[in-house]
Amino acid sequence: MTMRKINIIEIEKKVRNLCAKANIVLRSDVNAAIFKACRSKNETPLVRKMLKILLENARLAKEEKLPICQDTGITEVFLKIGEQVILTGGNLTDAVNRGIKKSYAENYFRKSVVRDPLLRKNTKTNTPGILHVEIIRGNKVKITVMPKGFGSENKSALFMLNPTAGAKEVERVSVDVVKTAGSNACPPYILGIGLGGTAEFAARLAKKALLRPINKANKKYHLAELEKNIMNKANELKIGVMGLGGMTTVLGVNIEAAPTHIAGLPVAINLSCHALRSASATI
Ligand code: SF4
Repeated sequence: MTMRKINIIEIEKKVRNLCAKANIVLRSDVNAAIFKACRSKNETPLVRKMLKILLENARLAKEEKLPICQDTGITEVFLKIGEQVILTGGNLTDAVNRGIKKSYAENYFRKSVVRDPLLRKNTKTNTPGILHVEIIRGNKVKITVMPKGFGSENKSALFMLNPTAGAKEVERVSVDVVKTAGSNACPPYILGIGLGGTAEFAARLAKKALLRPINKANKKYHLAELEKNIMNKANELKIGVMGLGGMTTVLGVNIEAAPTHIAGLPVAINLSCHALRSASATI
């Protein structure tokens, strides 16, 4: 097995660039979904106008190198590290946080992280970020940065269902999350759903589900069907863009599933607003 050395400075640089890219450039799959909704004859002129404003906002952000939204989020960093990689030059967590700190400072992104959830003092650097580390095969490091705004994060939920609850109950609780969010979390929404594992594993799966392009259905037929059903039912709520009504309440539903215990069915739903942001790079 040939080992490969990677200096953590490389990871810091990538995180720094990816923080900027994710906050400034709207994902192409999300942009395409908004564009498609915008052309729908089923929407009123007012809704179509609002969708056009979202597209215009994304275009201007990219051109002017400004954030898509003023809430530049808490920074989640997903690292997939090949087992043949030897990291050199210091501490990985420190390198990731340095990358976040530099990017948020030089781009004048809003710093939204408080050190203690009760004392509420802002760290003024948007660090620490939230790190998710996975060891994979190979000699590469894949880095994904996702700035997550809290308007939508606050509406996310976890349900520990009975093992026999089945797809219909998953559909019901998922649509209920959208209903409860109403127009408060900047719809149209994208739902990341984690099924199975344990409570915390399902929550992480739900977040990871948001990283899959929203125009790509789950490869498993029964999960792809469930994605479609949840999306249709949620759109029947007619909350619409920014609560203006119409058929575009949800732009996409992504489900990821994992093995779980015979006695339970964990379901985590991570809600994203239309400003679903992420960017990836591989070293
Ligand atoms: S919910 Fe999304 S679009 Fe609304 S303020 Fe937060 S990050 Fe921005």
